[in-house]
Amino acid sequence: MIPRDYMIKALDGSGGVKVVLAATTHLVEHARQRHHTSATASAALGRVLTAALIMTHDLKDPADVVSVRFNGDGPAGVIIATATGMGTVRGYISEPQADLPAAAPGKLNVGGLVGTEGYVEVLKDIGMKQPFTGRVPLVSGEIAEDLVQYFMHSEQVPTLLALGVLVDVDLSIKAAGGLMVQALPGVDDELLASIEQQVLKLGNISSALEMTENLEELLQKVMGGIEYQLIGEQDLEFCCTCSRERLAVILSSYSKEELERLCDDEGTMEVTCNFCNQQYHYTPEQIMDAKKPQPRD
Ligand SMILES: [Zn+2]
Repeated sequence: MIPRDYMIKALDGSGGVKVVLAATTHLVEHARQRHHTSATASAALGRVLTAALIMTHDLKDPADVVSVRFNGDGPAGVIIATATGMGTVRGYISEPQADLPAAAPGKLNVGGLVGTEGYVEVLKDIGMKQPFTGRVPLVSGEIAEDLVQYFMHSEQVPTLLALGVLVDVDLSIKAAGGLMVQALPGVDDELLASIEQQVLKLGNISSALEMTENLEELLQKVMGGIEYQLIGEQDLEFCCTCSRERLAVILSSYSKEELERLCDDEGTMEVTCNFCNQQYHYTPEQIMDAKKPQPRD
């Protein structure tokens, strides 16, 4: 068990292969508690949250954002995760209670929950005029396999991606994280094959994460005897950008009459943030106040 959530990246000595490893057990558990997800939904959402974080590994600016959106025909509905260059992520699954029987003993049916018809869309906002977007059809709904197709077709980068979420019998998250290997232009094929072999030897990524106390140890196993260099480390956490004030400003575009219609008998309305399931309560007057210019210092 890795005591904290973080991500490391490394480059082999020849500069041909990049490896990113992420430990996300605590943030996936946090998301599970916020969204009250079923076992399979925890695994699906946890994989998407982890993938979005791994995909921020090459962002230059803390304000840059990567969003990953799975839209399949399975009972999960839409799954969205948005991660930043600061290592924060937020996300949700539209049907958190949806669940399916195991695909095989000990194997959660994430592919069935997500579905195999539909698409995965990635949006990268890196401060350019237009954000970069790529969309590919789903392959299996297992998340990692689908994103490998995205990397191949939208970014033209051969990628090996493993994502894992181990859900305990009490539904808590025992281990979560991911591993990505990317081949850079001019990579030596034998070197790449040897790293792929090591990754296969690791077996199931969530079990490998459960059995280690730090990512550096896993990285060493992935690299075998190959010389490499650590080129980055980032702490990771689940963190939403919503706030009472921010939501009030958004709601203030409604008229007073519309706001009153949203209220219960006591004259207050309840608003829930999709991304973190936080509930906020307002009276129409409090929202109208948000419209007024605020004092500044
Ligand atoms: Zn929120």
